[in-house]
Amino acid sequence: MSTLEELGLRLERLEGAGYGAYRQVRGAWEAPGWTLLVDRVQVDPFAPPSIVRVRLPRATGAFPEELWADRPRRTGLEDFVLRAFRRACERMPRPGGGSGGSGRIEVGVRGPAILERSGCSIEEGELELRFRVGLPARGRRAMGRAAAEIFERHLPRAVEEVRWEGLDREGARRQALCAEDHEALLAQLAERGLCAFVRDGSILPRSSGVSQEPLEGAVPFESPPSLRVSLPTPNAGEVVGMGIERGITVLSGGGFHGKTTLLEALQAGVYPHVPGDGREWVAAAPDAVKVRSEDGRAVTGLDLSPFISDLPQGRDTRRFTTADASGSTSLAAAILEALEVGTSLLLLDEDTSATNLLVRDARMQSLVERETITPLIDRARELAERGTSIILVTGGGGDWLDVADRTVLMEDYLPRDASERARAVAAEHPTGRAGRTPAEALALPTRLVAPDSLDPTTRRGRRRVKAGGTRTIAFGEETIELGALEQLVEEGQARAIGALLAQLGRQRAPQTVRELAHGAARLARERGLWAIDPLPELALPRPHEIGAALNRFRGLRAAR
Ligand code: ADP
Ligand code: MG
Repeated sequence: MSTLEELGLRLERLEGAGYGAYRQVRGAWEAPGWTLLVDRVQVDPFAPPSIVRVRLPRATGAFPEELWADRPRRTGLEDFVLRAFRRACERMPRPGGGSGGSGRIEVGVRGPAILERSGCSIEEGELELRFRVGLPARGRRAMGRAAAEIFERHLPRAVEEVRWEGLDREGARRQALCAEDHEALLAQLAERGLCAFVRDGSILPRSSGVSQEPLEGAVPFESPPSLRVSLPTPNAGEVVGMGIERGITVLSGGGFHGKTTLLEALQAGVYPHVPGDGREWVAAAPDAVKVRSEDGRAVTGLDLSPFISDLPQGRDTRRFTTADASGSTSLAAAILEALEVGTSLLLLDEDTSATNLLVRDARMQSLVERETITPLIDRARELAERGTSIILVTGGGGDWLDVADRTVLMEDYLPRDASERARAVAAEHPTGRAGRTPAEALALPTRLVAPDSLDPTTRRGRRRVKAGGTRTIAFGEETIELGALEQLVEEGQARAIGALLAQLGRQRAPQTVRELAHGAARLARERGLWAIDPLPELALPRPHEIGAALNRFRGLRAAR
């Protein structure tokens, strides 16, 4: 193998050459104690930057085995190392006067969730970092000397900073243990009959609607005594906070008192978060799904009849397909699809839910004779009994007090257990609403997908799979809209879903949506994202978001 020094010399000789000459740097280059691998060289300075790996053998990285031997800690450590590497890369000087992404180093980690990422793996103590480097150019001429600087001078320094010796060891340990504790909390939820937990002292609000940073000066969370539980964790000992039992929970309160903020923290609580985020100790059942209305989305071959029947013009809702769902049909579809993939907790906010699918009050029940909707309120008990709890944020839907197992009121950002009061109010002010037990038990959808419908080939015969932030995946000729998937928290997850959907399309036998979603997530977890698609910016998605993307794909062919 040639050395990093030789790479430097070779790059210097490329100064001023045509950009294509960079091809010569592909391959493995030996540095003292570690290896640089240049996997993919970009064709021009405006193309996606080149894909590069750095491999540190166990002896060089010297990470303590207790932090990588088991999965949750390892994930916490890997995520920490990748963030440290990104910070080191951000401090590198960039060559002046370069075009396109010259000298830019892209490290695939964004938000505060701790996720398994293709950008970093620590296998048996061996560290591999994967990232992109924009090979520098002036116009279309290689800036070989600047490239040599990056690889010979700056990169080795960044590598020094991610060895255990150079790392913030205290911080790394804290994050690894934090990830492990979160996993333990998730297990505790299941054991204790809880569906969610928020530790006292958590900081739930973000500093703005577009920021993931904790809000400064926020009111720390404090559990109401009647809902207070204490859960054991392996590293932080007993942690005390609000435990929400399974069943039907109504979160209410005046406007602007922190209802949505609490719900959003819960939906994020399916993932661990980095220390300092404020939500490290928030946990929701790992299969919890936030569902919402989504005007205009596609729905394919879904049996909506548990919630909607008798559409105008005799449209069949047992095999409902549309390219443009309404507020209520999209919410019904989201609920049923979440049940199809499998969920023990549905999270809903009236801010983002079609009211008529949540409830129809007494007056409307009298006025509207041709009822087409069975609102969620009439299915809630049945769902809870079948193992799917509901947490609903509502400030306006008083009818829900009749079915709630507990009611939590948010006041000045703090929760209060108002269950007793809510029961008294419900008795004192009967709604006159006729609670309707649906005639038929809710039938879980089980649709079979035709795998060849998952083909990302465009009409011109090119393969097109590309994520645009967390909001879209371009897939063949179609664009899959992901904007409503609030638990898809990083672009890397969208990219991974794109890669996984393309992979699913290569299968022969039809499988159910549920099998596909879980199978894809399992594949990614077991084989590793890098093995699925060697891109350095992938992050592990849940089966629920994989299924949700599948369900929004307009080219999908699926049927009962
Ligand atoms: P609601 O859904 O009840 O109308 P939100 O959750 O949207 O209220 O919160 C309203 C505002 O209060 C938001 O700007 C949010 O950032 C802020 N907020 C929420 N919780 C807290 C808190 N614990 N401390 C300080 N501000 C908070
Ligand atoms: Mg709100």
